[in-house]
Amino acid sequence: MNKTALITGASQGIGACIARKLASEGFNIAINCRSEHEVENGGNQVKAECEAYGIEAECFVADVSDFAACESMVKSVKERFTTIDVLVNNAGITRDGLVARMTEDQFDIVTNVNYKSVFNMIRQVSPIMMKQRSGRIINMASVAGVYGNPGQFNYSASKAGVVGMTLSASKELGPRNITVNAIAPGFIKTPMTEVLDEKVKETALSGIALRRFGEPDEVASLAAFLASDGAAYITGQVIVIDGGMVM
Ligand code: NAP
Repeated sequence: MNKTALITGASQGIGACIARKLASEGFNIAINCRSEHEVENGGNQVKAECEAYGIEAECFVADVSDFAACESMVKSVKERFTTIDVLVNNAGITRDGLVARMTEDQFDIVTNVNYKSVFNMIRQVSPIMMKQRSGRIINMASVAGVYGNPGQFNYSASKAGVVGMTLSASKELGPRNITVNAIAPGFIKTPMTEVLDEKVKETALSGIALRRFGEPDEVASLAAFLASDGAAYITGQVIVIDGGMVM
């Protein structure tokens, strides 16, 4: 196929599943990891799993909240793979707390990693896709950014921002044959949600129509569809994948 997908925060969780899924469909994979530590503790393993599908994969270190780091990572990916056909802005963190007690640091780190990073990456990758006259951008939002969630003021704000960027970018980049969509997962079984209190998990479960949490592979399947030829006419959409969740 000779197409390349760059996935941020791909050393574990949903990002790692998307990397493996796109590799299985023939994409070369650029695996972004926050630091060398993540390359050793996850990235290299994901790289080997991707390569097992017969494609080329490589880890690239960058903290996606850092504009200059994103610029240099995208340059390296372009040098290594020539094209960037799919960008998945997946990296994300939580620092939960009620707004009345939230620290400035809690707010800043979550918005920088989840929200500013999406600007950092689209700013660097969109000129490449515009020249190619094709591309797919997939942004990881959240149901919290669509409906809000108590205790996640910073996270909801960052993900609502991702939705706004998705809508504007789809309109700006559509004429160059670049689609931009967001995925808004509900409760997915990953290291991010593993650490939550059992009570929180029980309450969340009772509000899900399918009475189970989502698998990261199920989110990866949706991302793979959005990256596929079959999704060529879908842009500017926020696709919720939450098992029928009441928020
Ligand atoms: P996860 O298991 O914690 O994985 C997040 C990934 O992002 C990790 O590889 C992490 O690397 C990376 N990352 C964090 N900060 C980074 C930075 N500054 N630069 C580069 N990479 C960074 O979480 P997940 O559940 O797979 O979440 C993936 C995405 O889905 C996130 O955007 C999240 O908000 C969204 N989401 C998840 C759920 C859910 O229920 N799990 C629901 C809705 C939306 P480190 O290991 O270095 O931290």
